[in-house]
Amino acid sequence: MADDKLSKIVSLCKRRGFIFGGSEIYGGISSIWDYGPLGAKIKKRIKDLWWKTYTEDRSDIVGLDSSIIMHEDVFRASGHLEGFNDMLVDCFGCKRRFRLDKIEHLRDSLYKCPGCKKEIDTNVSKPRKFNLMLRTNMSAIEDEPYWGYLRPETAQGIFCNFQNVLSSTYKKLPLGIAQIGKSFRNEVTGGSFIFRMKEFEQMEIEYFCAPEDSDRLYEEWVEERYNYYVNRIGLKKENLARRRHAKDELAHYARGCTDIEYLFPFGWSELEGVANRTDYDLTQHSKVSKKDLSYFDQKNNRKFMPHVIEPSAGVDRTFFAVICDAFCEEEVKGKLRTVLKLKPQLASHCAAILPLLTNRPELVELAKRIFYDIKDKITAQYDDTAAIGKLYRRQDEIGTPFCVTVDVDSLADKQVTVRERDTMAQERIPIERIIEFVNNKLKA
Ligand code: ATP
Repeated sequence: MADDKLSKIVSLCKRRGFIFGGSEIYGGISSIWDYGPLGAKIKKRIKDLWWKTYTEDRSDIVGLDSSIIMHEDVFRASGHLEGFNDMLVDCFGCKRRFRLDKIEHLRDSLYKCPGCKKEIDTNVSKPRKFNLMLRTNMSAIEDEPYWGYLRPETAQGIFCNFQNVLSSTYKKLPLGIAQIGKSFRNEVTGGSFIFRMKEFEQMEIEYFCAPEDSDRLYEEWVEERYNYYVNRIGLKKENLARRRHAKDELAHYARGCTDIEYLFPFGWSELEGVANRTDYDLTQHSKVSKKDLSYFDQKNNRKFMPHVIEPSAGVDRTFFAVICDAFCEEEVKGKLRTVLKLKPQLASHCAAILPLLTNRPELVELAKRIFYDIKDKITAQYDDTAAIGKLYRRQDEIGTPFCVTVDVDSLADKQVTVRERDTMAQERIPIERIIEFVNNKLKA
């Protein structure tokens, strides 16, 4: 059943231009995916919403866009060069490779393969370390390489720019620095579609604060981010959970970490991690760079190394959760209707303008004129490439909340029929009220 839902979603994403396999015409590359025309739009809406919520609607957070390739010493300081290793085991049954920390431990050296369910004996299939960092040769001379690293998280660019941001913005703590951008990990256990990719995008905030405020702010951020998924992204509460890490799961420097998990078709998995990282990152970068990254608190006349709360979200996993949550199959008059019940603000467009008959030039002209008149006020698409029934089905599949149909009567009475995606209810309204009608529904 779950596999069935996943394969339907993967197939819909390909068929309707949400997601394609990377380098597909050459056979593809494992765990690399491309976003198609509609996928790119929805992905942009997810990023824009996050960016606006945190960097524009709040005055305690500023934005940053730092580079992807970073100095080797950045990752020496962060611990990624040394410690960014996954222990992996091979299953001799199904020939797949799994992260040891993600598979079920049966007893002693025996684990259960999540693929074929056979036992994996770690005395036989020895766990091996794989470094997850991707490096690139920054030298123009092939045989004299010097290595730069593709960041495995956007966070390090934030830590490296902490003092730049502080001194250029004159902000005081608590201060968040937010960034959206690509990250790269040489993930060796792919699968599960866009859940685990080698090239992916993150939306991260490093929220710098005084040490004594960190526990309270950590709790606040866990709630803030959980509520964001419910209220702003529109995910169903029953598909969301907060999972607090046990003490022995925490990184040695972390005081707390909570995963916000989503019930994907393959089970509960991490959508976002919210961590209380203490002063570890700035202390490390101060040591390795030999620059003082501490903060002077003028009000209390004291100096300290800021602590940091990190809500770290994945753009692709949010996209995946949004599609899974919205995906719905219903029987309508004996036929299967596939519909994406997306939150309208995230849909690739809010309204589709459709002429009922394409062989009537005056209808086509009126429909196109309506599209040009409304497109700056609401996101819209004009489509006349099929008969109306088929156009409705296509718009349902991509999650368009409203279809606006222009028919012969529209020429005389200057009215159109608006069909709502979820209820399929139809309403006749004057052309000049389309924008108001759609906006009112969006507010409701
Ligand atoms: P996992 O345990 O699932 O590998 P993680 O704990 O390594 O995740 P973090 O380092 O906390 O992930 O990264 C923060 C967020 O970045 C994750 O919650 C996820 O949304 C996203 N992310 C991390 N790795 C990937 C990946 N390989 N592909 C897609 N998104 C990712």
